[in-house]
Amino acid sequence: MDKMKEQVMKNMEELGFPVIVDEKSGALQWVDMRELRLRYFISIENIKPFYEGLKEGKLMGTKCKKCGRLFFPPQKDCPSCMDSDIEWIELKNEGTLETMTVVFVKPPSFGMYDPYPVAIAKLDDGPRILAWYNGDPQQVKPGQRVKVQVSRRKEGYLMYELVPL
Ligand SMILES: [Zn+2]
Repeated sequence: MDKMKEQVMKNMEELGFPVIVDEKSGALQWVDMRELRLRYFISIENIKPFYEGLKEGKLMGTKCKKCGRLFFPPQKDCPSCMDSDIEWIELKNEGTLETMTVVFVKPPSFGMYDPYPVAIAKLDDGPRILAWYNGDPQQVKPGQRVKVQVSRRKEGYLMYELVPL
């Protein structure tokens, strides 16, 4: 980013505008030099039991009372039945790893992290869970068993991660 900023400043001086040539397309692009800070609010009222569970080290999902489907992340309404008659249940916090990747090109909000592994596991209860993988990606084997563990992130809040068993 700093290198790009340098180039933009150079072009601004030479050409009069904050422009840069896009590496892929070769097209000239205007680069807005204002940086935006963004703070947003999202209501968690409907999934409050999920956060309350996390605080106690539990992984909470929802279950449709009509068809019995389990949901994680928790759903307020069943997408199959279109029914809102759901109940909260504690999910089994173990499962099998299905896929994993290491993220090198990070979104700005995770810019302060080193490259991190992200994985999808199928919980023994059925639902799949996407989470950061807290283990050595090189040591993962087919059928790798994992558990869901609650941990505190660098930003200070509680979140769940997958840990090899
Ligand atoms: Zn249902």
